[in-house]
Amino acid sequence: MNAIDRYAVIGNPIAHSKSPRIHSRFAASVGHQLTYEALLAPLDGFAATVAEFVRGGGRGANVTLPFKLEAHALATELSERARAAGAVNTLCFEGERIFGDNTDGIGMVTDIVRNAGVALQGRRILLLGAGGAARGALLPLIEEQPAQLVIANRTPARAEQLAQQFSAYGADLRACSFDAIAGRFDVVINATSASLARELPPIPPGALDEGGFAYDMMYGAQATVFMEFSAAQGAAVRDGLGMLVEQAAESFFLWRGVRPDTAAVFAELRTELRAEAHAKSLAGL
Ligand code: NAP
Repeated sequence: MNAIDRYAVIGNPIAHSKSPRIHSRFAASVGHQLTYEALLAPLDGFAATVAEFVRGGGRGANVTLPFKLEAHALATELSERARAAGAVNTLCFEGERIFGDNTDGIGMVTDIVRNAGVALQGRRILLLGAGGAARGALLPLIEEQPAQLVIANRTPARAEQLAQQFSAYGADLRACSFDAIAGRFDVVINATSASLARELPPIPPGALDEGGFAYDMMYGAQATVFMEFSAAQGAAVRDGLGMLVEQAAESFFLWRGVRPDTAAVFAELRTELRAEAHAKSLAGL
C-alpha cells in the first residue's frame, strides 16, 4: 500500500527547480503528508516518465520546459484555461483520467491583484511577448475585465494570431509590433524572454503611464533591465517570483483542496535568491 501521496515536477533540465521546496513547505504548512520530487524526463520520454510515475502511485505532477505542450496532448480532460493556453503545467491523475490545467497565468494575476494590490479591472494593459507565458496569461487577464488589452511582439504575426484566438473570449484585444505601440498603459507585463539575455524589449518610453505598474515574469536577485527602465519612468515594479509561488499554490489547491499561505514561502525564496547572489559575488562569479 502506498501510504503517502506522491507528486513531482517533470522537466528537462530539472535540477534547478524550486518546486520541490515550495510544495514541501506548502504541505508542512497545512499539515499534509506527501512527497514531491523532481523528475528528469528524457527529451523523447515524457509520456513514458509520466506513465511510470503513475504506476508508482503518482497523484499529480507539475510540468515544466520543454514538456508543457506534450502534457496538453497527454491530458484526457482539460480546464478551459489550459485549452486556451494550449499548454499544461499541472496534471492530476485519477485512475485512467488525466486532468490537465494551466496555473501559470492565474498565478501571475493573483500575484499582481492580491499580492501587489494592483487592480486590473478597467485598466489599459500592454502584454509584451506572444510565447508560452503570454498565451497562458491571456485568459486570466481577460477574466479581470481590463478596459484594453494590447499584445506586442517582436514577431507581430504571433501576437496577431493570439489576438484572433482570444477575441473569442470577448475582450477588446489588439496586436502590434513593438514599433507600433501607441498610447499609454496603466500596466505593462513583460512576458518576453528578453530579460534572460539582460535585454530590454524595445517599447517606446511614453508607453507606461507615470504611476503605472510594470511586471516582469522573470525573477532573480536583482531587478531586470525592464524593471529598471520602468522604475526610472515612475512606475511601481515587480518581478515574477510571486507568480512562481502562486502558480504552485494553485496546483496544490487542485491536488489537495486547500489553499496554502504563500507569503512565508515567497519571503523565504526572496531571501535565498539574495543569499545565492551574495555568495556568487563573493566567489567572483
Ligand atoms: P517563449 O515561449 O520562448 O517566448 C519568448 C517570447 O519572448 C516570444 O514572444 C519572443 O518573441 C520574445 N523575445 C525573445 N527575445 C526577445 C528580445 N530580445 N526582445 C523582444 N522579445 C523577445 O518563452 P516563455 O515560456 O513564454 O517565457 C517568457 C518569460 O516568462 C521567460 O523570461 C520566463 O522565465 C518567464 N516565465 C516565468 C514564469 C514564472 O513563474 N515566474 C513562468 C513562465 C515563464 P518572438 O515571438 O518574436 O520570438
